[in-house]
Amino acid sequence: MAQPSPDPDLFDTIVNLCVRRGFVFRSAEIYGGFRSAYDYGPLGVLLLRNVKEQWWRSMVQMRHDVVGLDASILSPPAVWEASGHLDNFTDPMVDCRSCGTRHRSDKLEDPEACPECGERGRLTEPRQFNLMFSTHAGPVADSAAQVYLRPETAQGMFINFANVLRASRKRPPFGIAQIGKSFRNEITPGNFVFRTREFEQMEMEFFVPPDTAGDWFEHWCEARHQWYLDLGIKPESVRLRAHGADELSHYSSATSDVEFLFPWGWDELEGIANRGDYDLRCHAEHSGERLEYFDPATGEHYVPHVIEPAAGATRAAMAFLMSAYDTEVVNDAERVVLRLDRRLAPYQAAVLPLSRKDVLVPVAQRVFDLLKGRWSCDYDETQAIGRRYRRQDEIGTPLCVTVDFDTLEDDAVTVRDRDTMAQDRVGIDRLPGYLAERLP
Ligand code: ATP
Repeated sequence: MAQPSPDPDLFDTIVNLCVRRGFVFRSAEIYGGFRSAYDYGPLGVLLLRNVKEQWWRSMVQMRHDVVGLDASILSPPAVWEASGHLDNFTDPMVDCRSCGTRHRSDKLEDPEACPECGERGRLTEPRQFNLMFSTHAGPVADSAAQVYLRPETAQGMFINFANVLRASRKRPPFGIAQIGKSFRNEITPGNFVFRTREFEQMEMEFFVPPDTAGDWFEHWCEARHQWYLDLGIKPESVRLRAHGADELSHYSSATSDVEFLFPWGWDELEGIANRGDYDLRCHAEHSGERLEYFDPATGEHYVPHVIEPAAGATRAAMAFLMSAYDTEVVNDAERVVLRLDRRLAPYQAAVLPLSRKDVLVPVAQRVFDLLKGRWSCDYDETQAIGRRYRRQDEIGTPLCVTVDFDTLEDDAVTVRDRDTMAQDRVGIDRLPGYLAERLP
């Protein structure tokens, strides 16, 4: 198979689409913008919710061996001391002596040259920069009140291991899953929402008997790769890449990344790691709690090993958008169409009265009311119908439901399919059934 190549123009196209159509806005834009964070607009918030919902569905709802958690974002230093983050959660940073900018040295294309001003030989020696944000809890801002914003959701699962074990009556193999915000003081945020200082993660810690960890690692690599494929990422744009021995963290015996072919090349969407018993042991040592499982079948206590699939919701949403973007020529004009999976599309249907005439609007409202409880629907009565179809194509709405003057006679509507542009005439009484066959 020919090696796929990245499409550098796609980056600007997607950023432009996101801003113009209300997927993603620059944060604090009216004050000049805030480079390291983004706001999700009316369409982005729907897309992101759908991405997270699909993750939760496959990781929690569809499994009897995984339960959910929503742990706090703020936590005391003890957690991060035990996890090793206070000492080790660092990136190597260099300063440019010419222009004063700072960069992550392990991501430099040319280790000698400043990526900002291009000067060679002006970069300082790398020093380790800790990525955790800290603040103070309570009215006194002294060191005793120092707390950290979590840089990953994972530690919430480890420190609640015993609570969940007790409360849920699960036993290994079982998992704890969590979706939520994480914060990292990235040295160089960039590539739009790919690397930001505030982002959302979808992580699961799967606790297993030690001798089964290798098999479970393989299982989760395969399952997580498949999740992106099932939701419509093109097979040639997503791959699993095993880390080489030099890339592995000291506690990990195996790690694979799910990578996507971004406009700048292959880059990480998710990491799946075999973390051994490192995390539970560290927290047991530091807290003095026994973080073990007692197996009544063998009469033995053991520390489960952990397989962790850790994904970024915001990165995944960007990859889904990029993979779905398509253009074609229809009647001598370019048609932009986001071929998003129906489960991810911000709106699953759009209700469009042909005109704003008083006679059509109440019928269209009735159609909207008929569908809104089950599907996320847009309602749009502005502009010519052809332009409204194009707007819906561009944001990935799978079906458009048009109310026209014939509707007043036959109580039927025209349903147009985003991908084929085929149109069906469907009686309003049959409409929910018709949509149910075509939408999840
Ligand atoms: P990188 O090497 O890109 O900094 P990482 O390997 O440190 O990422 P993990 O700690 O494994 O990332 O985090 C799991 C997932 O969380 C990543 O695969 C990514 O999807 C997401 N993620 C991590 N950092 C960021 C960030 N700054 N912005 C957006 N998403 C992020």
